[in-house]
Amino acid sequence: VVEIHAVSKRYGSNPVLHQVSLTIPAGSVTVILGPSGSGKSTLLRSINHLERVDDGFITIDGQLLGYRQSGNKLYELRDHEILAQRADVGMVFQNFNLFPHLSVLENLIEAPLAVRGLSRAEAEALGLELLARVGLADKADAYPRQLSGGQQQRVAIARALALKPKVLLFDEPTSALDPELVGEVLDVIKELARSGTTLIVVTHEIGFAREVADRVVFMEQGRIVEAGSPEQIFNAPAQQRTAAFLGKVL
Ligand code: ATP
Ligand code: MG
Repeated sequence: VVEIHAVSKRYGSNPVLHQVSLTIPAGSVTVILGPSGSGKSTLLRSINHLERVDDGFITIDGQLLGYRQSGNKLYELRDHEILAQRADVGMVFQNFNLFPHLSVLENLIEAPLAVRGLSRAEAEALGLELLARVGLADKADAYPRQLSGGQQQRVAIARALALKPKVLLFDEPTSALDPELVGEVLDVIKELARSGTTLIVVTHEIGFAREVADRVVFMEQGRIVEAGSPEQIFNAPAQQRTAAFLGKVL
Protein backbone atom coordinates (compact mmCIF):
# COMPACT_ATOMS: atom_id res chain seq x y z
CA VAL A 1 0.00 0.00 0.00
CA VAL A 2 1.30 3.41 -0.98
CA GLU A 3 -0.18 6.27 1.01
CA ILE A 4 0.34 9.82 -0.24
CA HIS A 5 -0.81 12.24 2.40
CA ALA A 6 -1.33 15.96 1.69
CA VAL A 7 1.91 16.22 -0.29
CA SER A 8 2.99 19.64 -1.52
CA LYS A 9 6.05 20.54 -3.56
CA ARG A 10 7.45 23.81 -4.91
CA TYR A 11 10.31 24.56 -7.24
CA GLY A 12 11.54 27.91 -5.97
CA SER A 13 8.38 29.99 -5.84
CA ASN A 14 6.58 27.77 -8.39
CA PRO A 15 4.08 25.46 -6.65
CA VAL A 16 3.93 22.11 -8.45
CA LEU A 17 1.95 19.84 -6.10
CA HIS A 18 -0.77 21.11 -3.76
CA GLN A 19 -1.93 18.89 -0.94
CA VAL A 20 -2.07 15.77 -3.06
CA SER A 21 -3.53 12.77 -1.24
CA LEU A 22 -3.91 9.32 -2.78
CA THR A 23 -4.00 5.75 -1.53
CA ILE A 24 -2.77 2.98 -3.79
CA PRO A 25 -3.83 -0.43 -2.43
CA ALA A 26 -1.47 -3.37 -2.83
CA GLY A 27 -2.04 -5.21 -6.10
CA SER A 28 -3.98 -2.34 -7.69
CA VAL A 29 -3.36 -0.43 -10.90
CA THR A 30 -3.65 3.36 -10.81
CA VAL A 31 -3.45 5.39 -14.00
CA ILE A 32 -2.62 9.10 -13.72
CA LEU A 33 -3.72 11.45 -16.49
CA GLY A 34 -3.39 15.17 -16.90
CA PRO A 35 -2.05 17.94 -19.10
CA SER A 36 1.63 18.72 -19.50
CA GLY A 37 3.02 20.44 -16.42
CA SER A 38 0.27 19.20 -14.10
CA GLY A 39 2.79 17.52 -11.78
CA LYS A 40 2.44 13.87 -12.77
CA SER A 41 6.18 13.19 -13.08
CA THR A 42 6.91 15.19 -9.94
CA LEU A 43 4.46 13.01 -8.01
CA LEU A 44 6.08 9.80 -9.28
CA ARG A 45 9.55 11.17 -8.59
CA SER A 46 8.49 12.00 -5.05
CA ILE A 47 7.38 8.40 -4.48
CA ASN A 48 10.78 7.25 -5.71
CA HIS A 49 12.79 9.68 -3.55
CA LEU A 50 14.06 11.55 -6.60
CA GLU A 51 12.34 14.65 -5.19
CA ARG A 52 11.89 15.78 -1.63
CA VAL A 53 8.41 16.95 -0.75
CA ASP A 54 8.01 20.23 1.11
CA ASP A 55 4.94 19.23 3.04
CA GLY A 56 2.93 16.10 3.75
CA PHE A 57 4.34 12.57 3.68
CA ILE A 58 4.38 9.30 1.80
CA THR A 59 4.39 5.80 3.28
CA ILE A 60 4.99 2.45 1.61
CA ASP A 61 3.56 -0.49 3.54
CA GLY A 62 3.45 1.81 6.55
CA GLN A 63 7.11 2.82 6.24
CA LEU A 64 7.62 6.56 6.11
CA LEU A 65 9.61 7.63 3.06
CA GLY A 66 12.82 9.49 3.87
CA TYR A 67 12.53 9.37 7.65
CA ARG A 68 13.01 6.98 10.50
CA GLN A 69 10.80 7.26 13.54
CA SER A 70 12.25 6.79 16.99
CA GLY A 71 9.88 7.42 19.87
CA ASN A 72 7.99 10.51 18.78
CA LYS A 73 10.93 11.96 16.85
CA LEU A 74 11.66 11.78 13.15
CA TYR A 75 15.18 11.43 11.81
CA GLU A 76 16.12 11.94 8.19
CA LEU A 77 17.43 8.78 6.57
CA ARG A 78 21.08 8.63 5.56
CA ASP A 79 21.99 8.10 1.92
CA HIS A 80 22.44 4.33 2.18
CA GLU A 81 19.10 4.01 3.97
CA ILE A 82 17.44 6.02 1.21
CA LEU A 83 18.95 3.69 -1.40
CA ALA A 84 17.55 0.69 0.46
CA GLN A 85 14.11 2.31 0.60
CA ARG A 86 14.28 3.30 -3.05
CA ALA A 87 14.89 -0.33 -3.99
CA ASP A 88 11.29 -1.04 -2.94
CA VAL A 89 10.06 1.36 -5.63
CA GLY A 90 10.77 0.47 -9.26
CA MET A 91 10.61 3.15 -11.91
CA VAL A 92 10.41 2.92 -15.69
CA PHE A 93 11.00 6.09 -17.66
CA GLN A 94 9.93 7.30 -21.07
CA ASN A 95 13.46 6.96 -22.45
CA PHE A 96 14.35 3.52 -21.04
CA ASN A 97 17.56 4.76 -19.33
CA LEU A 98 19.45 1.50 -19.86
CA PHE A 99 23.21 1.49 -19.32
CA PRO A 100 24.48 1.59 -22.93
CA HIS A 101 27.86 0.02 -22.18
CA LEU A 102 26.35 -3.02 -20.44
CA SER A 103 24.72 -6.03 -22.07
CA VAL A 104 21.05 -6.70 -21.42
CA LEU A 105 21.82 -9.30 -18.75
CA GLU A 106 24.45 -7.04 -17.14
CA ASN A 107 21.82 -4.27 -17.00
CA LEU A 108 19.55 -6.65 -15.13
CA ILE A 109 22.00 -8.00 -12.58
CA GLU A 110 23.72 -4.75 -11.61
CA ALA A 111 21.25 -3.61 -8.97
CA PRO A 112 20.42 -7.02 -7.48
CA LEU A 113 24.17 -7.56 -6.96
CA ALA A 114 24.76 -4.13 -5.45
CA VAL A 115 21.54 -3.53 -3.53
CA ARG A 116 20.03 -6.93 -2.73
CA GLY A 117 23.28 -8.75 -2.12
CA LEU A 118 22.55 -11.62 -4.51
CA SER A 119 25.40 -13.80 -5.78
CA ARG A 120 26.24 -13.43 -9.47
CA ALA A 121 24.71 -16.85 -10.20
CA GLU A 122 21.49 -15.97 -8.39
CA ALA A 123 21.27 -12.57 -10.07
CA GLU A 124 21.86 -14.10 -13.53
CA ALA A 125 19.22 -16.77 -12.96
CA LEU A 126 16.75 -14.08 -11.88
CA GLY A 127 17.73 -11.89 -14.84
CA LEU A 128 17.16 -14.71 -17.34
CA GLU A 129 13.81 -15.57 -15.76
CA LEU A 130 12.71 -11.92 -16.03
CA LEU A 131 13.91 -11.67 -19.64
CA ALA A 132 11.76 -14.70 -20.46
CA ARG A 133 8.84 -13.01 -18.76
CA VAL A 134 9.12 -9.95 -21.01
CA GLY A 135 9.65 -12.14 -24.08
CA LEU A 136 13.37 -11.45 -24.56
CA ALA A 137 15.04 -14.67 -23.43
CA ASP A 138 17.24 -14.62 -26.54
CA LYS A 139 18.58 -11.08 -25.99
CA ALA A 140 20.64 -11.58 -22.81
CA ASP A 141 23.94 -10.84 -24.54
CA ALA A 142 22.75 -8.03 -26.80
CA TYR A 143 23.57 -4.40 -26.11
CA PRO A 144 20.80 -1.80 -25.78
CA ARG A 145 21.71 -0.13 -29.11
CA GLN A 146 21.04 -3.44 -30.87
CA LEU A 147 17.42 -3.51 -29.67
CA SER A 148 14.28 -1.75 -30.86
CA GLY A 149 12.71 0.86 -28.59
CA GLY A 150 10.00 -1.58 -27.55
CA GLN A 151 12.59 -4.23 -26.70
CA GLN A 152 14.67 -1.70 -24.74
CA GLN A 153 11.62 -0.68 -22.75
CA ARG A 154 10.82 -4.34 -21.98
CA VAL A 155 14.40 -4.73 -20.70
CA ALA A 156 13.90 -1.62 -18.56
CA ILE A 157 10.76 -3.21 -17.09
CA ALA A 158 12.63 -6.44 -16.37
CA ARG A 159 15.40 -4.41 -14.75
CA ALA A 160 12.91 -2.66 -12.48
CA LEU A 161 11.36 -6.02 -11.53
CA ALA A 162 14.77 -7.48 -10.66
CA LEU A 163 14.73 -5.62 -7.33
CA LYS A 164 11.34 -7.15 -6.47
CA PRO A 165 9.84 -3.75 -5.75
CA LYS A 166 6.68 -3.28 -3.69
CA VAL A 167 5.39 -0.84 -6.29
CA LEU A 168 6.34 -0.13 -9.89
CA LEU A 169 6.03 3.38 -11.33
CA PHE A 170 5.78 4.06 -15.06
CA ASP A 171 6.23 7.57 -16.42
CA GLU A 172 4.79 7.62 -19.96
CA PRO A 173 6.41 4.27 -20.79
CA THR A 174 5.23 4.22 -24.40
CA SER A 175 5.33 7.84 -25.45
CA ALA A 176 8.83 7.64 -26.96
CA LEU A 177 7.97 4.55 -29.01
CA ASP A 178 6.98 4.20 -32.63
CA PRO A 179 3.26 3.39 -32.75
CA GLU A 180 3.76 -0.21 -33.85
CA LEU A 181 5.93 -0.89 -30.77
CA VAL A 182 3.49 0.47 -28.18
CA GLY A 183 1.40 -2.72 -28.01
CA GLU A 184 4.24 -5.05 -27.02
CA VAL A 185 5.16 -2.82 -24.07
CA LEU A 186 1.54 -2.38 -22.94
CA ASP A 187 1.10 -6.17 -23.12
CA VAL A 188 3.97 -6.65 -20.67
CA ILE A 189 2.48 -4.06 -18.30
CA LYS A 190 -0.94 -5.72 -18.59
CA GLU A 191 0.61 -9.05 -17.66
CA LEU A 192 2.14 -7.43 -14.56
CA ALA A 193 -1.25 -5.98 -13.67
CA ARG A 194 -2.89 -9.40 -13.97
CA SER A 195 -0.21 -10.96 -11.77
CA GLY A 196 -0.99 -8.55 -8.95
CA THR A 197 1.97 -6.15 -9.11
CA THR A 198 1.11 -2.76 -7.62
CA LEU A 199 1.38 -0.28 -10.49
CA ILE A 200 1.14 3.48 -10.88
CA VAL A 201 1.17 4.42 -14.55
CA VAL A 202 1.28 7.90 -16.04
CA THR A 203 -0.01 7.43 -19.56
CA HIS A 204 -2.37 8.87 -22.11
CA GLU A 205 -3.18 5.42 -23.49
CA ILE A 206 -6.88 5.53 -22.71
CA GLY A 207 -7.60 2.05 -24.07
CA PHE A 208 -4.99 0.63 -21.73
CA ALA A 209 -6.42 2.59 -18.79
CA ARG A 210 -9.94 1.34 -19.53
CA GLU A 211 -8.75 -2.23 -19.70
CA VAL A 212 -6.44 -2.50 -16.69
CA ALA A 213 -6.87 0.45 -14.32
CA ASP A 214 -8.64 -0.05 -11.04
CA ARG A 215 -8.55 3.68 -10.54
CA VAL A 216 -7.97 6.64 -12.85
CA VAL A 217 -6.71 9.90 -11.37
CA PHE A 218 -6.97 13.18 -13.27
CA MET A 219 -4.50 15.90 -12.26
CA GLU A 220 -4.34 19.54 -13.25
CA GLN A 221 -2.10 22.32 -11.95
CA GLY A 222 -0.68 20.18 -9.17
CA ARG A 223 -4.02 19.04 -7.82
CA ILE A 224 -6.08 15.89 -8.12
CA VAL A 225 -9.22 17.10 -9.84
CA GLU A 226 -10.99 13.77 -9.56
CA ALA A 227 -10.38 10.05 -9.26
CA GLY A 228 -12.61 7.09 -9.92
CA SER A 229 -13.09 3.90 -11.87
CA PRO A 230 -12.29 4.02 -15.60
CA GLU A 231 -16.02 3.81 -16.40
CA GLN A 232 -16.75 6.78 -14.17
CA ILE A 233 -13.87 8.97 -15.36
CA PHE A 234 -14.14 8.19 -19.06
CA ASN A 235 -17.91 7.82 -19.43
CA ALA A 236 -19.21 10.26 -16.86
CA PRO A 237 -16.53 12.60 -15.49
CA ALA A 238 -17.88 14.69 -12.63
CA GLN A 239 -15.67 17.68 -13.40
CA GLN A 240 -15.86 19.86 -16.47
CA ARG A 241 -12.03 20.13 -16.54
CA THR A 242 -11.71 16.36 -16.79
CA ALA A 243 -14.24 16.24 -19.61
CA ALA A 244 -12.43 19.03 -21.46
CA PHE A 245 -9.08 17.21 -21.18
CA LEU A 246 -10.54 13.87 -22.27
CA GLY A 247 -12.18 15.61 -25.21
CA LYS A 248 -8.68 16.46 -26.44
CA VAL A 249 -6.98 13.08 -25.91
CA LEU A 250 -9.78 10.61 -26.74
P1 ATP B 1 4.42 16.28 -18.78
O1 ATP B 1 3.08 15.70 -19.16
O2 ATP B 1 4.87 17.32 -19.73
O3 ATP B 1 5.44 15.23 -18.52
P2 ATP B 1 4.05 16.56 -15.90
O4 ATP B 1 2.60 16.51 -15.52
O5 ATP B 1 4.83 15.32 -15.72
O6 ATP B 1 4.16 17.09 -17.39
P3 ATP B 1 6.00 17.77 -14.18
O7 ATP B 1 7.16 17.34 -14.98
O8 ATP B 1 5.74 17.09 -12.89
O9 ATP B 1 4.68 17.75 -15.05
O10 ATP B 1 6.19 19.34 -13.94
C1 ATP B 1 5.29 20.09 -13.15
C2 ATP B 1 5.80 21.51 -13.08
O11 ATP B 1 7.03 21.56 -12.37
C3 ATP B 1 6.07 22.17 -14.42
O12 ATP B 1 5.63 23.48 -14.34
C4 ATP B 1 7.56 22.09 -14.55
O13 ATP B 1 8.04 23.16 -15.32
C5 ATP B 1 8.03 22.19 -13.12
N1 ATP B 1 9.29 21.45 -12.89
C6 ATP B 1 9.47 20.13 -13.04
N2 ATP B 1 10.73 19.77 -12.71
C7 ATP B 1 11.37 20.90 -12.33
C8 ATP B 1 12.69 21.20 -11.86
N3 ATP B 1 13.61 20.23 -11.71
N4 ATP B 1 12.98 22.49 -11.58
C9 ATP B 1 12.06 23.45 -11.71
N5 ATP B 1 10.79 23.24 -12.13
C10 ATP B 1 10.44 21.99 -12.44
MG1 MG C 1 5.93 14.13 -16.99
